[in-house]
Amino acid sequence: MNKRLRRGARQATKHPHPANNPKSRAHSRTTLPVAEPRDVRRATVRLIRTDAKAFTAVLALNSLAAIAGLASPWLVGRIIDEVRRGGGTSAVDKLALAILMAATAQLLLARWARYVGHRFGERTLARIREEFVDRTLALPASVVERAGTGDLTARGTADVATVGTTLRDAGPELLINSVQVLFLLGAVVALDPLLGACGLLGLAGLWPVLRWYLRRARTGYLAEGTATSDVAEILAATASGARTVEALRLERRRVTASRDALETSRRTRLHTLFLRSVFFPSVEIAYLVPVATVLLVGGALHARGTISLGTVVAAALYLQQMVGPLDEILMRVEQLQSSGASFARVEGLAQAPRATDADSPTPADDRIDVTGVRYAYDRGGEVLGGVDLTVRPGERLAVVGPSGAGKTTLSRLLAGVDAPSAGSVTVGGVPVVALGPEVLRRQVVLVTQEHHVFLGTVRDNLRIAEPSATDEELWAALTAVGADAWVRLLPDGLDTALGDGGCRTDGSQAQQLALARVVLADPHTLILDEATALLDPTTARHTERALAAVLEGRTVIAIAHRLHTAHDADRVAVMENGLLTELGTHDELVAADGAYAALWRSWHGERPASPGTARA
Ligand code: ADP
Repeated sequence: MNKRLRRGARQATKHPHPANNPKSRAHSRTTLPVAEPRDVRRATVRLIRTDAKAFTAVLALNSLAAIAGLASPWLVGRIIDEVRRGGGTSAVDKLALAILMAATAQLLLARWARYVGHRFGERTLARIREEFVDRTLALPASVVERAGTGDLTARGTADVATVGTTLRDAGPELLINSVQVLFLLGAVVALDPLLGACGLLGLAGLWPVLRWYLRRARTGYLAEGTATSDVAEILAATASGARTVEALRLERRRVTASRDALETSRRTRLHTLFLRSVFFPSVEIAYLVPVATVLLVGGALHARGTISLGTVVAAALYLQQMVGPLDEILMRVEQLQSSGASFARVEGLAQAPRATDADSPTPADDRIDVTGVRYAYDRGGEVLGGVDLTVRPGERLAVVGPSGAGKTTLSRLLAGVDAPSAGSVTVGGVPVVALGPEVLRRQVVLVTQEHHVFLGTVRDNLRIAEPSATDEELWAALTAVGADAWVRLLPDGLDTALGDGGCRTDGSQAQQLALARVVLADPHTLILDEATALLDPTTARHTERALAAVLEGRTVIAIAHRLHTAHDADRVAVMENGLLTELGTHDELVAADGAYAALWRSWHGERPASPGTARA
């Protein structure tokens, strides 16, 4: 007995849960909420209610199994009484047969209950996963950007998995064993109230031991887990940085650091060993106390003739039978505690702000206004220091400036990817960050160098932008960006699977798909963040032609990496050190002889053969 409990404790040490690990918490920059215990309880009740039928079935089957389990000890008691009375063997045989039948019934019922319980767990887990995905997709881009994808990923993988294990194993087991313990106790009380009271009193000793252990175990195992990670980290870092360690003569320091980590690890391990060495013997004794009490008291009562020997034996057997379920419950309680923390993180998403189209405001027109916008990243100083800018519908605006001036940051704010720290970015009088995803997609789309091809068919990849698009619309979009030819050559046309394991796309095809998505989303304003900077010249030219088709009839804000883009634009905005320093047409700015004129002269001088300059 208790081997399982011990194994459980060791597992907890080996895999310190990321959510519980104080170290990983220190490194994260979580802004995603974590649910309060009250909300976790409410969510649990809600999940049970959704599948109430299955849950009731689990409870009912377990109860039946437990009742069937009660028969054997009682029948054993009857056999003893029968034999003492000198009854015939046929009566004993019948009782023995009844024991066999009860045991078989219990086995079958318990199996069935477990099956239904695990199905309930799997369905509920699926529901939690779906909810998680829905909630994640409803998160505003700015919230995801701030929280970092690491936190979301950890919640969606490790935390959901922990909750899943609990639902699949711990939950049903806890339920089964609790029902069994309750029925066993009830049976002892029914046999003889006095013996029942003795059993209960004996079991009460378990409570303080459990409390003592649980209070210390959590921090103890967390500390042990952290210490183990530290040892691994130091050893790995020393090994991978061995050359540096040698070059800088840091051997001594590394050895000392490793020793310290090992010493800490040893201490934390000794501490948890101490906890176990107190807990387990105490539990063993606590299990024996009720049986011993019942035998003593029952023996005395039997001697006085108030109770039959069979009843005493049956009561003792019931209490002895309780050890297994109690053991299981003790082990699962700890698991339940740690998965409660995970569930709190999973449920926390419910409290994050949502960007939905239902309550999204509607912009009055296509005008974009940037008013007094300031912005600072989580780490670091202010990147934008008060930017004012109005973009007129249909205009081509080029944003130029030295690297690090804040152009990319501004483009992200314009696209509603992030919210300004102060000031506002509005489209048609409505803040862009307040728009639901569908509404936002009709207004402003940011086109960057990253072109992701999603796992799925060509159609899936395009419909992300417009779920209701017909095949004609998809082909029209592909034609607009010059991608229709190669898509037609794919084995299954629009139904060809792309990405890993499917048809591979090259950089320019990925970019064309991205642009086709823009055509489908059909926003009135496009923000191009160095959209073609990373591609090789042939691809870039190819893409630029596609891009020209996409830009047709839209407002365009281009973060310009080549100045001929700026030259061709209606207006040019110059950014320096997070401020907009110049704004005007190319000719005006050249005539003004400021920063832009200087940039233009240097670029012009360097690359006289470019088509852009030829036109200039
Ligand atoms: P540009 O596009 O003009 O090169 P950016 O908007 O990319 O300028 O960057 C402006 C400033 O913000 C730079 O100093 C850059 O180091 C800083 N920055 C950009 N991204 C981040 C980030 N994720 N975290 C912290 N600082 C950042």
